[in-house]
Amino acid sequence: MHNDKQAEYNRMVQAINNEKDNEKETVSNPYELESKSPSQLLSMADDYSEEIVETHDLPISTDDFTIDISKRMTKSRGLCRKQNDEVQIRLSWPDYENNGWEQTQETIRHELIHAHQYINHGEADHGPTFKEWMDELDTSVYADDPASKGKYTIRCPNCYNENYRHRECKVVRQPENYKCTVCGHIGLTVDINE
Ligand SMILES: [Zn+2]
Ligand SMILES: [Zn+2]
Repeated sequence: MHNDKQAEYNRMVQAINNEKDNEKETVSNPYELESKSPSQLLSMADDYSEEIVETHDLPISTDDFTIDISKRMTKSRGLCRKQNDEVQIRLSWPDYENNGWEQTQETIRHELIHAHQYINHGEADHGPTFKEWMDELDTSVYADDPASKGKYTIRCPNCYNENYRHRECKVVRQPENYKCTVCGHIGLTVDINE
């Protein structure tokens, strides 16, 4: 009799634990993009820039430029400009929301090359002094322009929304894990453009 009760109790504990495990799965939804605030994005961008400048020996200091986040900039992922002797990198919040941190990191690396050009060459473009650093910082001349077609087309099979990537990033490797930012459909497809 005692053993029966013990067995029953064990079954109950097991059932509760199973339920807890199920809850865990629904909480940690892998398709959800991390949602941060613009000020959190700014501090991530500051830290990341410092890390890139140091690990790649980019001949600038993080004191030489400032970074800000624009909630309204949608035509570019990012930009770098020089105004009154101040070099400023601006990052697009909507682009971060739509395409995630990995894309923003590439944009930052791209803009850091422009910052280096302004600081050490006086002006910035996508010419030879840009290309000198392009491979080292693993970026492309297109990284800040969402309109330019990339090597990879990411497509939603539900609403046919298209996005482009120039490099083989996470979404290119595992499109089935990503959610369409337009209709919410989970599972995208990738085409390689020639
Ligand atoms: Zn550029
Ligand atoms: Zn869609």
